[in-house]
Amino acid sequence: MNAPASAPPNADSLSLEQIQSFEGRYPRQLWWLFFSEMWERFSFYGMRGVLTYFMVTQLMMKEDVANLQYGATQAFVYAFTFVGGLFADKILGFRRSLFWGGALMVVGSLVLAVDPKQFFFLGIAFNIVGTGFFKPNISTMVGALYKEGDSRRDAGFSLFYSGINVGALLGGYACVALGKSYSWNLAFGLTAVVMTISVLTFARSQRLLGPIGLPPRQGQSDEAKKKWQDWATYVGSVAVVPLLMIMVSKPQFTDWFMYAIGPLTLVYLGWEMTKYGPAERKKLLAALVFIVFSIVFWAFFEQSGGSLSLFAANNLRGTVLGIPLDPNGVNNAANSLFVIAFSPLLGLAWVALAKKKLEPNTVVKFGLGFLFLAGAFWVFYATRFFADADGQTSLDVFTLAYLVITFGELCLSPIGLSIMTKLSPKPLQGVMMGMWFLASAYGQYVAGILGAGMTSPAENATATDKLISYTAGYRQLALYALVAGVALIAISGGVRKLMGEVK
Ligand code: GLN
Repeated sequence: MNAPASAPPNADSLSLEQIQSFEGRYPRQLWWLFFSEMWERFSFYGMRGVLTYFMVTQLMMKEDVANLQYGATQAFVYAFTFVGGLFADKILGFRRSLFWGGALMVVGSLVLAVDPKQFFFLGIAFNIVGTGFFKPNISTMVGALYKEGDSRRDAGFSLFYSGINVGALLGGYACVALGKSYSWNLAFGLTAVVMTISVLTFARSQRLLGPIGLPPRQGQSDEAKKKWQDWATYVGSVAVVPLLMIMVSKPQFTDWFMYAIGPLTLVYLGWEMTKYGPAERKKLLAALVFIVFSIVFWAFFEQSGGSLSLFAANNLRGTVLGIPLDPNGVNNAANSLFVIAFSPLLGLAWVALAKKKLEPNTVVKFGLGFLFLAGAFWVFYATRFFADADGQTSLDVFTLAYLVITFGELCLSPIGLSIMTKLSPKPLQGVMMGMWFLASAYGQYVAGILGAGMTSPAENATATDKLISYTAGYRQLALYALVAGVALIAISGGVRKLMGEVK
């Protein structure tokens, strides 16, 4: 018997239609995904914010090596999001992928908490695979809460993006501060605790998700017969850990991996595209344009975990607006703080512009993202004009650069997540989200190379030498970002055509 129309729907048996017909601004499921992702990002950014500093001060790596190593680690992290998205689409579904990824991240953090020096690469390898299964799939699930064409989708991603940054802010500051002043074991231990909270939060959200995120074969006749594929995925993803450990510790293996994975995914996508009609193919092509440009964006932006973290350690005085703060903590946290503060404002600005029919389209927003990026790197460069004779410069100006870069990020990153879910046909959503993050992998990889290229070649370089060397690099990045932004705005008409009715 059907429930009377006025009765509240039973949370355990919500249909997709009921979920997607929510009233108000946000679906309630979004809040659960928000908190789960928030804690995951706490753990992830907590660890990321520690990496380069830990490698230089505890593993005694040289700065250029640490930069490359950092880039490699992050490249693998994001490259595995493609794998995680693919296996979620084809085998596990989004929910199981999330649980599995979360569990692997907890194990990785525990390994590091036990002995971060000895088990450094083992812990990192677990985290790489774990993030691969977790990160893209939770984002795709956000998209699944909305009907096609629902204009509230961007706002949902924007809120979700704030959650990401609340986690990144807390984790980014707490872990490095804990490690620097107490113990690195504790810092990594904290990431394990927090990641457990993330998984438990997601577990709690499941009953509200109806059919969203269930395995693609659930309820089909071959479900039982294909069960082995689930197990093969679990076993395979653990078996890959020792291999990854070796690969991530040797930069030339990372090079080979990066040379191979991009072309392979493109071939794969080309093959998938043959299954669709011209309209879908054009949309996927448009998605690729966004993906390619985002590689450049992240390559510059991600200096934050590499060269900018060393710049913070070597060249910054320790106060913002007169308040004493740890420069590395600021480097890890300022961007997130600004995202949280300004993301709602930017959302309102887009709405106000839309009312006057002046809202820029997605492609132009991406272009604006690059212009802000250019401005930010110019400010990073300009820190050199505020330096004293010891090569120490203003943390205020440095923080201002983060304010500018944040506007760039907000024009590109949450919108990128949303547009991936709009431009991809349903069976390819996980893969396309994975490709979006794969672009971040290339970005991270290039970020490491760029960062290493900016280090001062002199063996006993002074703080001033380092300042000059890094800021010269930032000036070049500003110029390239400007060129990319102008190019993107110039081709925006063509890309809009590929996107069809998608806005
Ligand atoms: N800061 C965002 C996040 O962690 C985007 C990262 C990225 O795509 N490189 O989700």
